[in-house]
Amino acid sequence: MKFLSYIYDGKEDYGIVDKDSIVPIANLLKHLDKKRPETLLDFIRIYSDSLIQDLESILSKEDIENIPYDHVKVTAPIPYPRRNVFCLGKNYREHAMEVKSLPSGSKAIPDFPIYFTKVADPCIGHMDKVKIPKEYTEKIDYEVELAIVIGKDGKDIPREKAEEYIFGYTIANDITARDIQKKHSQWHKGKSLDTFLPVGPYIVHKSQIGLPVELDISCKVNGELRQKSNTRELIFDIPYIISDLSKGLTLRAGDIILTGTPAGVGMGFDPPKFLKAGDVVECYIEKIGRLVNYIE
Ligand code: MG
Repeated sequence: MKFLSYIYDGKEDYGIVDKDSIVPIANLLKHLDKKRPETLLDFIRIYSDSLIQDLESILSKEDIENIPYDHVKVTAPIPYPRRNVFCLGKNYREHAMEVKSLPSGSKAIPDFPIYFTKVADPCIGHMDKVKIPKEYTEKIDYEVELAIVIGKDGKDIPREKAEEYIFGYTIANDITARDIQKKHSQWHKGKSLDTFLPVGPYIVHKSQIGLPVELDISCKVNGELRQKSNTRELIFDIPYIISDLSKGLTLRAGDIILTGTPAGVGMGFDPPKFLKAGDVVECYIEKIGRLVNYIE
């Protein structure tokens, strides 16, 4: 199932993508005598794998009232994450080599995951605008990434149980101000300017994407292919990340983890190809879809 959040008729809601239409979640939950949690984040916090099976069964049997897809404004699936978004840096080999100059320890290929977090308050959605504060930065970069959405609280999660703690996967664009990132030895600020985290358009439930996660991933700027890889190339894979990050640190349902970006970012070119106003960035991940954003 593909989950999305949207605005329809002036109201925020969320539901499931069913071909060219959207089924509002309340229309499904009423068949189970369940009340609609307020947001998709609230839904994820109470969900269980068996609920997804029940929803699928209702969707296949009943004639459920829906909305044409093109009548809604898609928003980020979780516009306001419950805390900072977790991120991995330098998690594809070729990318680690192209950004050797970034501050992150002595080794180009890390021995341990490089974690940082990103403020996204809010995350922006599909077709939304990334706004460059031109008085502070002129080196804006794109980074297509597979994002994991955690499905239940967990700590000290063993690798082999990692999948139990996943709700699903989505696409993120880890927009970065390279000049700010380089100036500070921590990456946090250069990654956290307002509008610097487009996410979406959907969260695809994990039942549609089994482990190991091997999905084509790419990014185009104004139609020009810049990044192209497959998530099987991750240095630290998804079970490793969940297991390692949860050591002594409780992951919460609804947490978002960005798994790193492949080679081909703007700063990797000579001369660099940074983003400018008017650019269109299209992030693609197989089985999830396309996340398109405009630079302003
Ligand atoms: Mg990144």
